[in-house]
Amino acid sequence: MVEALKIIKAMQSGLRHLFYSRVTRRYPEVDSGLPEGYYSFDPKKGVATAGWKGRHYLEMDKCTGCQLCSFMCDEISNAIIMVEVPEVRFEQNKKSLFPSVDYGRCVFCGLCVDACPFECLHMTPEIRLADYDRKKLYYSPLELSIQPAVGKPSYVVGKRKERVEG
Ligand code: SF4
Ligand code: SF4
Repeated sequence: MVEALKIIKAMQSGLRHLFYSRVTRRYPEVDSGLPEGYYSFDPKKGVATAGWKGRHYLEMDKCTGCQLCSFMCDEISNAIIMVEVPEVRFEQNKKSLFPSVDYGRCVFCGLCVDACPFECLHMTPEIRLADYDRKKLYYSPLELSIQPAVGKPSYVVGKRKERVEG
């Protein structure tokens, strides 16, 4: 008798939910509908701006090669490898040393972004990074420096707009 009541209760619950509107989205057929800002961190204010934590975007013209992002990642997953890019020369980065990321290791925690004191490392809405070839999960600094097709850095769409325009 008790078992039969349990079954009836379960069926009642199932029937009730037939008439509720769907709360899940059929991603990737249907767009996520989430805002397209990047996850960024303002080291001066110590404030993070919420956003996607997909592939990194590196502003090479601001990176000093200080390696703090890499030191931070060493504690997490060892996904950041500092590499020399001799063909790219900027005054602030005398050794032309830039971070590259192995997405076979990265756990998308964002701590490397938080650690960057020059606000030149961000995470973008580019989340479809899966590949059958392990080597293709490695992104060189030059690949990281390509701005993704979707989204904008949070400081352009968010509170720090004035900093960019000013
Ligand atoms: S997001 Fe986390 S795991 Fe990925 S590179 Fe940055 S610190 Fe490493
Ligand atoms: S991305 Fe930032 S933390 Fe990493 S090496 Fe460049 S300046 Fe330093």
